[in-house]
Amino acid sequence: MLLLSAKPVAESLGKRTRARLEAFRARMGRAPKLVVLLVGDDPASAIYTNSKGKRAIELGLLHETMKFPVNASPSEVRSAIQRLNDASDVDGILIQRPLPPNFPEDEVIRWVHPLKDVDAFHPENVGLLALNRPCLQPCTPTGVMEILRHYGISPAGKVACVVGRSSIVGKPMAMLLLHSDATVLQAHSRTPDLGAITRQADLLVVAAGKRGLVNASHVRPGAVVVDVGIHRIADGKVVGDVDFEAVSRVASALTPVPGGVGPMTIAVLLENTVQAAERRAQGP
Ligand code: NAD
Repeated sequence: MLLLSAKPVAESLGKRTRARLEAFRARMGRAPKLVVLLVGDDPASAIYTNSKGKRAIELGLLHETMKFPVNASPSEVRSAIQRLNDASDVDGILIQRPLPPNFPEDEVIRWVHPLKDVDAFHPENVGLLALNRPCLQPCTPTGVMEILRHYGISPAGKVACVVGRSSIVGKPMAMLLLHSDATVLQAHSRTPDLGAITRQADLLVVAAGKRGLVNASHVRPGAVVVDVGIHRIADGKVVGDVDFEAVSRVASALTPVPGGVGPMTIAVLLENTVQAAERRAQGP
């Protein structure tokens, strides 16, 4: 079985992003800048925000984390985002989730300008993705595509199944696979017989947020399996949505957790920041 480790993929994407960053700096006299907004004191969010900042700085980006107290009002945060949307030296803006419950998610996804929306959550970017037009790409699904490309796995002509239909992973994942000429099945929490669907897949991407949901009986022998799930269990270990031991005996290739899809998400986020800077510098 081929282990689809993210390390070489993230390194190679990082190299390409750094070269683009250097070219941008040479042309514009400054590095692209990423601003991350963190509202509240959720410890996991603080860890994610820190690691995004650390990786951004390691790559050579300018970076700032704007922190707001848990009782910050949505209008206060929105005004700050408007200022960042207008700032000529800010290229990427990311709102760390989850936000406090009084933030209206349907509106929040429209706050960041589509050209600075490095998470690609804005309806304009979602629509452009559906139309297969140039846009900022959703980080985690794009990270999965990078892994497949790196290991020479082409979705073209294959039956792909995505388990999960969230707006941040499942739906855009299905879209990217479709645009890569796969025949795409999509399973979700109301799919009555999950195994009957997943066993049809040559390429199975699991993003259900359910630890160990997919076992060997769900996998067609020889299939490629990508595990997007992340679960921190009692002893501090991190596991995925796929039973790694069991599935590694039937799959031809499988991503590990940790060290699979996870590191790719930040690598694509940083690439998106450089891309956003390049596109704004080109002008309309
Ligand atoms: P979500 O909870 O928003 O969506 C989960 C989806 O799975 C839903 O569409 C639901 O219909 C489906 N689902 C739930 N139970 C199911 C079942 N029994 N059978 C079939 N489908 C089922 O979650 P999400 O934001 O899409 O994230 C999914 C997982 O991926 C989580 O574990 C999350 O932590 C992880 N994640 C990882 C990264 C990364 O960087 N690697 C990024 C985002 C999310």
